[in-house]
Amino acid sequence: MAKNTLNLGDITVHILDDGQFITDAGNLFGGSRKARIRGAMRPVLVHSGDALVLLDAGFGPELPKSLEGRYELRREKDLLDHLEDAGHTPEDVTHVLLSHLDPDHVGWALRPRSFPNATVYAQSAAIEEAKSLPESSSRREIAPIFEKGVEEGWCEALDGDTEVVPGLRAEIRSGHAEGHQIFWIGTGDDLALFTADLAPAKIWLDPDLIAGVDTDPEAARKNRIEVLTQAEEHDAPTILYHEPKDFLVRIRRKDDGFEGIPLEE
Ligand SMILES: [Zn+2]
Repeated sequence: MAKNTLNLGDITVHILDDGQFITDAGNLFGGSRKARIRGAMRPVLVHSGDALVLLDAGFGPELPKSLEGRYELRREKDLLDHLEDAGHTPEDVTHVLLSHLDPDHVGWALRPRSFPNATVYAQSAAIEEAKSLPESSSRREIAPIFEKGVEEGWCEALDGDTEVVPGLRAEIRSGHAEGHQIFWIGTGDDLALFTADLAPAKIWLDPDLIAGVDTDPEAARKNRIEVLTQAEEHDAPTILYHEPKDFLVRIRRKDDGFEGIPLEE
């Protein structure tokens, strides 16, 4: 069985699950490809001191209207069920950190607000970019929800790299989206990495694979190489948000990019 918990000094990490989506490859790579592709959603729970932090928040209870027909959602249990299995209620969550504003990352945080005691964070640059996208963009739909949350006091915009709680560092690594952030968990040499959509599954460990859904493919490529190089240097267990099977890996460089060696129980 794939390993889904990590202990990093005083910090505990649980990799959760919000089911899987099926879509046409064209929705991810651009163009009109006929192949069907499957992705998981694996939000991560980080317990550090009094803080219980959720990194990304799946699709939420249902697919947004804008993705109906293009995406199919399959799950027996959702994120809240898996949170309960990990021994927590939605009320226990103190912070939700959003890597960016795509609907498969923000669902339970914003649509609807499911963690009544948590502050929800995203980068200002991600919000500004979302507002600049076409009306039909599923990323744009999220911006007004987040901004209303800011007015009501339960959402907060971040400006740049920051240590949100002790041992949890948000770092901007744009490319997939402006203001897209990844998270380094732990201290000293005892680090794990949550890449979000910078390198969301094993196939994306090839830096030359360009996603049709990246806002700035060159920045994505450069950041992917830099971050995966650091992950290998730190020997940091790396959590792949959209990987269906081997979602916790160690990064190793190979001739034409990187590979992920699964961590087993
Ligand atoms: Zn995604």
